[in-house]
Order: sequence, then C-alpha cells, then structure tokens
Amino acid sequence: MTDQNRPAPADAPASLSGGIKIDFGAGGSSPFGGLSIVADAAEATPITGGPATAVADGTPVETKVLIIGSGPAGLTAAIYAARANLEPVVIAGSAPGGQLMITSEVENYPGFPEGIDGPDLMAKFRAQAERFGTRFFDLDVDRVDLSGRPFRAWARGAAFIGQTVILATGASALWLNIESEQRLRGRGVSACATCDGFFFRDKEIAVVGGGDSAMEEANYLTRFASKVHLLHRRDAFRASKIMIDRAYSNPKIEVHTSTEVDEVLGDKTVEGLRLRDARDGREWSMPIEGLFIAIGHRPNTEVFRDWLETDEKGYLQPHEHTASRIDGVFIAGDVADHRYRQAITAAGDGARAAIDAERWLESEGIAEHATQTAW
Ligand code: NAP
Repeated sequence: MTDQNRPAPADAPASLSGGIKIDFGAGGSSPFGGLSIVADAAEATPITGGPATAVADGTPVETKVLIIGSGPAGLTAAIYAARANLEPVVIAGSAPGGQLMITSEVENYPGFPEGIDGPDLMAKFRAQAERFGTRFFDLDVDRVDLSGRPFRAWARGAAFIGQTVILATGASALWLNIESEQRLRGRGVSACATCDGFFFRDKEIAVVGGGDSAMEEANYLTRFASKVHLLHRRDAFRASKIMIDRAYSNPKIEVHTSTEVDEVLGDKTVEGLRLRDARDGREWSMPIEGLFIAIGHRPNTEVFRDWLETDEKGYLQPHEHTASRIDGVFIAGDVADHRYRQAITAAGDGARAAIDAERWLESEGIAEHATQTAW
C-alpha cells in the first residue's frame, strides 16, 4: 500500500527505527463529520527513520525476514515474524503506512467499534511490530535481486539482505491529477467508496470512471447519497454490460458520458465541478458535495517486474498460497489483490505470508518454527 515512487525529502532525519509521528489536522476539520481521506501522506506525515549507520559504513542490514512495504499486509507480517523470533526488517517506504495514512476514519476494521483514524490504526500496527523487535527503515526500495538466497534489496543507497522476502508494497489509487482534486482530497474528494460513502448521506455527489469499479461504486453510493452523477470521459464504457445496465436502471444515478472534469470547485470543501463536454468543448458547472475517483489502481510492482510475473494490470501473482514462483519470496496484500483491497484482507494476507515464510525458513534449516498452526 505504500507508494514506493514518492521521493524522500532531502532533510529526512536519520534514525535506525523511527516511529511514525501522526499529525493529520485536516481530517478533524471535515465538514462531513469524519470524512476519511485527508491530506497527502507525503506532505502531512513527517518522515522519520532511515538507515544512518547502514548508509554511513555501507554495511548491509541483514535479517531472516525482509519485508518490503508497511501497510496492513507488511506490518501484520512483521508482527507475526517478530513474535516468531525472526527479527524482521521492514523497508517501509518514504511515506510509511500505506493507503490508510490518507484515511481519517476507518469504521470497518474489527476491534474498533467507535472507528479509528487510519494513521492511528497504522501507528498501532507499527508499535505492535516494534514491540516484538521489528526494525524499520523508512526508505523507498530502488532495486531488488531475487536471483537466489539470500535475497537483496537496495533503498536510497542502503543495502539489505534477507533469507526470505515478503513483498507487500500495495497499490495506489489512480487520480485525475488536477490541482483542485489533490487540494481537496480529504475535503470531499475520495478514491474509496467503501471507506467514505457513509459520510455522504443525503448529499449529491459524483463518481468519475467508466469501468466496473465506477459502476459498482456509483451503485454502492446510492445507499447513502441522494443522487449520484456518473461521469465518464468517453461515450463507450469499459465496464461489463450487466454493471452498466444496473447503473442506468438505478433511479438515483444520472449518467453523463463524454464528460471530463476540468476542476473541482470549492475552497475548503467540495462545492461543485467544472465539467467539459469532450465532443464540443462546452463547459458547465455541477453543484455537488462529494467526488469519488474510480479510474483504477496501480500496483506498486515496478521494482519486482524483472523477477516475478505480473498480470496484465501489473499485479503480482502468488503461485501457491502466499508463495511466489521464487522459492523463499512471498507476496501479501493489495500488491496482488485487485478484488478485495481492504485493510483487513491485506492484514490477513500478511499473517499468512509470515507463517508461510516461517515454515519455509524452517524447511531450509534457517529457523525453527514457533507459530503453532494446524496443517
Ligand atoms: P478499468 O477497467 O481500468 O477502468 C478505468 C476507467 O477509468 C476507464 O473507463 C477509463 O476510461 C477511466 N479513466 C482512466 N483514467 C482516466 C482519467 N485520467 N480520467 C478520466 N477517466 C479515466 O478499472 P476498474 O474499473 O477499476 O476495474 C479494474 C478491474 O477490476 C477490471 O478488470 C474490472 O472488471 C475489475 N472489477 C470488477 C468488478 C466486478 O466484477 N464486480 C468490480 C470492480 C472492478 P477509458 O475507458 O476512456 O479508458
């Protein structure tokens, strides 16, 4: 879930295992009583951690379990591996914590009946992993060598060596990438209907996209919103016919084809959209209070593509359970999952991957297994 492409700020303080400091003021000022997506994690979260010694003297950081990625999958893998005395190392990315770091309120993660802010939830995951001895490096991985054991990774000049590796770099939602959309993320602009739909009860909102996700999210959002405008840039849809039919037959959805979003209007919250007809360039405004972007996700798999096969969308493909086709390399979370994409499913994957890695280390004679499972 971590965006591995985000550059680390030049003045990032160096420490061997800094904890994340959370200060997401934007979430609390939500006009929707707790809208979940807030300011960009790279801007809002101070970057801590970094391999001061490892970089200084060039000594690689060695571990039995090297985990790449620090969303729910990577951190759950770390908790399990650490409790199995495997002293894992997490290369957490320069914006650690994954997609939940841009989510202000999570109401569907079991164990938190009152809900919990995404960054707070990730801070708890991380504290739990640290409590059992996980070391963190808040760096982006530039390169890996998975040609054989031990596996190697490099991140901003630091070298890492792992007897086994768990790949948990997640996926990032695609955005329109217009200035007003980015500015109003967390203030009415969201990329997750499941997370945020609840906050738009009886409001008029819009969904952008023409694939199955956009259809599904538009339909889902009609449970809450008074009206959902579905905006698609072309006049033909990528979505399956049944999903398109369902959207057209939903009385709360109004479909606008050949419609592009030029600007999200509003200063502190979303107040409307400036739209353009793709056929004749005609511009018009639409008053709405929420905008959902549903134009797909990009898995963070670039650095692994020389080593592991991906599907046509770039997602990694586990071979058996969480094992990849490379012996000793395991896969967890959204980096391989475009179906469920939930924190809880990613966390479950992380537990599975850590248990599989532990079993594999035992089979290789590198570690004794400690986690009791029946199989
Ligand atoms: P997708 O199929 O790639 O569709 C993305 C949509 O977003 C396309 O209509 C595309 O427009 C539009 N888009 C992309 N970039 C845009 C931009 N910059 N501005 C405006 N529009 C833009 O992605 P998806 O809908 O997330 O689906 C991903 C996969 O998951 C698909 O295989 C899908 O079938 C599957 N899925 C299945 C279900 C289900 O069966 N229940 C639900 C969700 C997803 P163009 O068409 O013009 O390129």
